[in-house]
Amino acid sequence: MKSQLRVIGALALSLAVFMIDAFTTVNGAIAVVYIVAIFLVAPLGLRAIIAAAIVAIAFTLLAFGLQHGEQLNSSALIRLVVCIVAISLTTVLILRDRATRTSLVEQARILELSHDTVIIRDKDDVIVYWNDGAEKLYGWMRSEAVGKHCESLLKCRFSSEEVQAAFDLEGHWTGQLIRTRRDGASLTLASRWLQRKDDGGRPVGVIESSADVTAQLQHDEARRASEQRYRTIFETAGFATWESNWLDTKRVLDQYTGDISQFEDWLLANPQVTQAAIRGAIIRNANPAAVRLFQAGSNEKLSGTNLCGRYLPESFPAIAQLLATLRKGEMGAENEVRLKSLAGEVVDVVLRVNILPDSRDWAHVLVMAFDVTERNLSRARIEQTSAELAHAARVSLLGQLSASIAHEVNQPLTAILNYARSGERWLLREEPDLTEVSSSLQRIVTNGNRAAEVIKRVKALAKKTVTPAASFSLPEIVEDALGLVRHEAKLQGVKLKQSSEGTLPLAFGDRVQVQQVLVNLIVNGLHAMRDVTDRKRELRILLGVAPAGMLRVEVRDVGMGFAQEAIGKVFDPFFTTKAEGMGMGLSICRSIIETQGGHIIVRNNEGPGATVTFTVPATPENT
Ligand code: ADP
Repeated sequence: MKSQLRVIGALALSLAVFMIDAFTTVNGAIAVVYIVAIFLVAPLGLRAIIAAAIVAIAFTLLAFGLQHGEQLNSSALIRLVVCIVAISLTTVLILRDRATRTSLVEQARILELSHDTVIIRDKDDVIVYWNDGAEKLYGWMRSEAVGKHCESLLKCRFSSEEVQAAFDLEGHWTGQLIRTRRDGASLTLASRWLQRKDDGGRPVGVIESSADVTAQLQHDEARRASEQRYRTIFETAGFATWESNWLDTKRVLDQYTGDISQFEDWLLANPQVTQAAIRGAIIRNANPAAVRLFQAGSNEKLSGTNLCGRYLPESFPAIAQLLATLRKGEMGAENEVRLKSLAGEVVDVVLRVNILPDSRDWAHVLVMAFDVTERNLSRARIEQTSAELAHAARVSLLGQLSASIAHEVNQPLTAILNYARSGERWLLREEPDLTEVSSSLQRIVTNGNRAAEVIKRVKALAKKTVTPAASFSLPEIVEDALGLVRHEAKLQGVKLKQSSEGTLPLAFGDRVQVQQVLVNLIVNGLHAMRDVTDRKRELRILLGVAPAGMLRVEVRDVGMGFAQEAIGKVFDPFFTTKAEGMGMGLSICRSIIETQGGHIIVRNNEGPGATVTFTVPATPENT
């Protein structure tokens, strides 16, 4: 609408000027007023300007023709020329001004559209222009920022000397500066400042364009910190690690185009390929632990080399398997290999190979090696020791068995001999006492049976068969055991006594074995009192209840007691202080008692003699 008005106005004005110029006698350069019409349509564009100019010139010429067609005078002609030149010049100027303005508008639009912040400051650092980017980044609207002192608004931190030096030298400065947003957040900006100068070359301000690089710097910083962490881990790791380039290894392995499941076999059948693959794995950088593992002295000795020739031939199957796993597309694989250090020492290592995630071409491969040489050696040592132990155990078991048979059978045999001799004596009397002979014979039978029983038990022990446990009365087996040794006790003048703390529950276990233990301990007690002359020889058996459902048996003598240094060893097989002893009695007693679930201990009495105490399980109440 506005533009139509402009056209109508311009036309009307042009017509009016034409009428005056053509039909009145107003002498003068009235035609110059056409310029106003051209100005009127100027905002409508190039075509409107040119059309207005043509109309103006045409009207001027027409008016001139009508006025001066018949008599041409020179002053009128000059006026005509001046008018046309004036109209033409004005048109050209308007057109040029329009072009300049268009380009300025476009530039302004570009500044507006820019994502970067664009700020124009005058020579006093007062903001005169503030684009959309600046509004968004700093948080102040254009109306709030324009007119403010830039440095105090944005709390700039930068080196003004550096900026001035750059201005002096090149007229512009590029660098980083720190500013504060409206919300107080600190920003790091990559900025470019251009010094504005007037026609005389005097500085009149600065145009600056800045981009926010805070996030990028933070990202860079995080990345640098992460790389630093990785490097520290790499350098300080206690195990050998090296980064390598396996590009050539991959190239070698990629030559295989057959069935991937057969790949490992193919590698094994073509050791030269495995060799080439190993040669292709170039060490880039090794950590101190790797330098130590390879006895290389320095990282430089390893960097750029490969491990071909380091692996011992027996490692090839493991390497083939490792390469096959990676070729199948796994990003990591491990296996144990044996290699030689630079100093020629053989080391066993578990190799862990990891292709780094951004390295599908195997350009970056991390290899870790855990030295298991020591572990393998101790494993071998343990295996050897176990074999030796097993052998020793077999030998010792055989020894123990034969010793135990000899020991246990010795007692009934001695008893049989004694009873046979005493039977003989009763028979050889003037008046043979057949009752005593019969009693001796009976005891011979009993002891013979005991010997047979002992052998049966030992055989059972050797076969590891378990004799079924049963309930039995402790006082009863004490009585039986005392019966077996009574004769010998009598010969030595030893008084045998037994007592119980109240009524005892039944014991539970192998009756014959427990009785055997008792006989052993009583005989030991008798032996210990052999040299006692200054006191009454007495052997006492005390029965009682022990905690945790056990029964206690104490065999107490008044003999010489245990030698102090012997007390810790008396249960060791073959420990004896007796010339005729075998040192098996207490050892066997302990294994019998512990098999039954009890304990056995020895101690010296407050007074003279020693006490051996053992426990056996009581029969549980509900059975
Ligand atoms: P040995 O049958 O050879 O005597 P034992 O295993 O029965 O072997 O006993 C080992 C050693 O313990 C004996 O040689 C003896 O020195 C000591 N000993 C065992 N019982 C007693 C005891 N009641 N009093 C003192 N010493 C004892």
